This record gives sequence, C-alpha cells and structure tokens, in this order.
Amino acid sequence: MTTSREPSATALAVDLGERHIVAGIVDAAGDAIVADRIVTPRREVMRALGALVERVIAAAPVEQRPTVGAVTAPGPVDAAPGEFRPLGLRRWWHEPVRRVVTSASGLDIALESIGRGFALAAHDAAFADRAASAPTNADESGADDQTPSAGAAVPGGVLGLYLGDQVDGGVVVAGGLVNGVNRQAGRVGHLCVDPDGLQCVCGAVGCLESYASIRGVEAQTDRSITVTPPAFAERAGTMVGRACAGLLATFDQHQVVIGGPLVRILGEPFLAGLRSEFERRCRLPHLTQARVRIATLSVLAPAGAVAHRMLAQTVDAA
Ligand SMILES: [Zn+2]
Repeated sequence: MTTSREPSATALAVDLGERHIVAGIVDAAGDAIVADRIVTPRREVMRALGALVERVIAAAPVEQRPTVGAVTAPGPVDAAPGEFRPLGLRRWWHEPVRRVVTSASGLDIALESIGRGFALAAHDAAFADRAASAPTNADESGADDQTPSAGAAVPGGVLGLYLGDQVDGGVVVAGGLVNGVNRQAGRVGHLCVDPDGLQCVCGAVGCLESYASIRGVEAQTDRSITVTPPAFAERAGTMVGRACAGLLATFDQHQVVIGGPLVRILGEPFLAGLRSEFERRCRLPHLTQARVRIATLSVLAPAGAVAHRMLAQTVDAA
C-alpha cells in the first residue's frame, strides 16, 4: 500500500478489472492519497473487493476520508441493481458491486463502464492541460472563451476510446458524458470495422472489439497479449485507426484520446497501423486537423473522474 498526504476534497475510486482490482482515495486532481491492488480472484470476487475497499478506507487519514465513491469495470452497467453486465464475462452478472462497495465504505457509490469513465478522465486531463497553458491575460490574447474561467469543459468535447479486456469508450460534451437512451453512448466496441471479418462475442461479425481488445487479440493468436506477433498488433492498430477516422468525421471533433493497457502492450506495430489507416481515412475537409492522442492516465483516473462529478453535484446542491 502507498500513501501520501495532500489536503483536498477526496473520493473513493475503484477499478474492477478481470486481471486486477485497484482501490484508492484520490484527490481532486486524480492523484492517489492511499491506494492498494490485488490480483482478481477467479471466485469470490465480491468478498475480495469488499475486503480491499475496507482496507483502503481504514488507511485513509481521518481528515481525508472520502464522502463519495465510484467503481469502473467492463460495462455496461445495470444501474437499478447496481451491477455490471459485461459481454464475455457472464460470471460477473448479478454480482452486487454497488451494494458490496457501499457496505464496505459507507459511501454513496456510482458505477460506470471503464470506457465512459476513461473519456471523463481524458476530458479532465485535457482541461487541466489547457488551464496550465492558457494565457493569464485573456483580454490581450482574445482567448477568453477558452480559459478555465469560461467553465470546466474542453471546447467541442472529447471522444475517449479505451482498449483493455474490452473495447469501450465515451463522449464528453460540455464537461459531461453524453448518455444516450441506455447510458451507453460512446461504447464503440461493437462498431463494425470489417463486415467480412471475425466473429464477435456479441454474435455479430467484424466488431472493433474482436480486433483491438486484449481478449480479442488473444483469441486470434491463442497466446498471451504480451507475445502478440507484430502483424496482429498492426491489424489492431489499423482497425482502431479506421474507427477513429469514422468517429471524428461523424462527431465533428478534432481528436480521439486513446488509452488502456493494450496500447502500451502492443506498442509500435500497433501505433504504425493506427497512423497509416487514420491518415488514409481522414480525407474530408473538416478532418484536416484531426488527430489521435495517446493518454497515459493512472488506473484510478476513470473512477476518480466519475466520483468527482458526484462530489461536484453534491457541492452544487448544497
Ligand atoms: Zn460485437
């Protein structure tokens, strides 16, 4: 367990993944004050999750105890019972995640899919970058509509794409997630990138998830993602580049922010495929400034961003 002491409003953040569970207390900047991680057990996941959260809460300095919390995991979320319903991970269906974390922490807990949480965190990081680089005298620069005082939102919004065990994502506009009818807007894993392609876990063919998720790549190669042949890594990048160009053309944005462990693991062959296909596909005039940016956010940043939205709403309502 790691600890540091930075006074600020804090939140409990939990990343519930197939390979690890990480829990921590994060400050408003998303930095962890206390954090701990375990390998995800095959059985009794809820028992392990509850025990981890209890340890983290107990380790937090009294003056930095959180008042809200959030859990990110492979989505989608079934909000009413407070559970996740990940495709291809059916043993997690009906696991009472919100009840367990609420019981272990004593806090109000929000659940969000990892991709939508990532998009929020990517937005907040982009906003912080803009704030850090914004001119101090808006009148002289003429850029007063782009400074932090204009509101906590990146102009135009952010498209976030998360590549982990699933392909997931989110769309942030005016500082908040676009929800859609089922709170799944931006979850692009089942966008078709090859109509004659691979069979997907969802039952369709050619979904992005089959090419650019850890589970999808491992199913193709029948080996660990860490020893993926370069041709498969490059093809994952090609499919991601194809999807990104289409998303940017559709949503009229300047950039997609990409993150998640697959990007780091597949490395340069993946990035080469992505760059090549993205450049080939961005032919429309409104895409002349389009780009893909790789974000390196902490593992707790997505849940932290979700929790701090709750905190802001609590303050606004007071
Ligand atoms: Zn699919």
